[in-house]
Amino acid sequence: MSHLKRILVTGGAGFLGSHLCERLVEQGHDVICLDNFFTSQKSNVMHLLNLPNFELIRHDITQPIFLEVDEIYNMACPAAPGHYQYNPIKTMKTSVLGAVNTLGLAKRCRAKILQASTSEVYGDPEVHPQPETYKGAVNTLGTRACYDEGKRAAETLFMDYYRMNSVNIRIVRIFNTYGPRMHPFDGRVVSNFIRQALDGDDLTIFGDGSQTRSFCYRDDLIEGILRMMNGPDTLIGPVNLGNPNEFTILELAKIILELTQSSSKLVYSPLPADDPTQRQPDIRLAQKHLAWEPRILLREGLQKTIDWFRSIRLNEYRPPTPNY
Ligand code: NAD
Ligand code: UDP
Repeated sequence: MSHLKRILVTGGAGFLGSHLCERLVEQGHDVICLDNFFTSQKSNVMHLLNLPNFELIRHDITQPIFLEVDEIYNMACPAAPGHYQYNPIKTMKTSVLGAVNTLGLAKRCRAKILQASTSEVYGDPEVHPQPETYKGAVNTLGTRACYDEGKRAAETLFMDYYRMNSVNIRIVRIFNTYGPRMHPFDGRVVSNFIRQALDGDDLTIFGDGSQTRSFCYRDDLIEGILRMMNGPDTLIGPVNLGNPNEFTILELAKIILELTQSSSKLVYSPLPADDPTQRQPDIRLAQKHLAWEPRILLREGLQKTIDWFRSIRLNEYRPPTPNY
């Protein structure tokens, strides 16, 4: 059938990538999942391995790869602060060389290519909520810069391949997304709080907990990514994808304590450097051009995530490999 495509998902074994692979496999496409398993494991895609339209390649996207594909979703990059700061030089290489290699592949194959960019390109934003036109306030020298600047450089490469080589690109800027299959030890706030609440450990609030984030459930996010890839070629982005419902970190902690019926206490420690004080997506572009908006409320999404955390065995997850 002509609408079926050969699709490469880099970072396809990760939290978002594995769900994207699932959706694409369900649609009947031939899916190639590429991953070096830095922040993920084979178990995330185990259920897909026996399917005739799914293939798994262990490969590091900082190295070129020769494939024949129609579409590329470039998701490969550690996303949690603890993961991307583990080896910051490698993080920058993954974003920049990963973009060069996937864009080169897209150019050769005439494939359409989508970049998973991030709200971190806005840094610690002075404009609230953040529209796509806001140019951002990133500290180029800080410990988050390896990720923020890597993703900004990747956006630049996408735009230059579009202008110079007519590569058919898409850029989405993803805001904090959570859900089942997020790495339980990634250090992100949702995974930390749920794990701590279920174990009866103290919930670790950084700063006074007044900083805000807007949390999007993974199914909503993946739907937005698919709509963007399949949207009009004139809509190259960047387009924000996220849930505009904004919460303080303290509010999040209290909701998780309530949903888990945990009697864990809150403990406070200093706010990490350059930690954004506020973050909320302006999603009017996605609403207007993709007819997309999130549907899952925070409590509903958290409940599904808590149920998943209860169902897994934590000793089957390991932190990033030390020789990465
Ligand atoms: P994740 O860490 O679960 O997934 C990233 C995947 O990329 C992992 O499977 C990892 O092993 C793989 N990877 C890392 N470096 C690689 C390399 N050099 N070569 C090949 N594979 C490599 O994180 P996620 O939350 O699923 O994020 C997926 C993408 O979405 C990332 O690009 C991230 O920057 C972006 N994003 C995510 C969020 C979020 O809230 N989850 C927010 C903004 C942007
Ligand atoms: N945070 C926290 N306790 C934790 C982990 C994170 O208070 O155990 C805070 C963190 O300082 C930040 C917010 O929660 O203000 C979101 O952090 P996360 O690492 O999930 O994502 P990001 O900072 O990249 O948005």
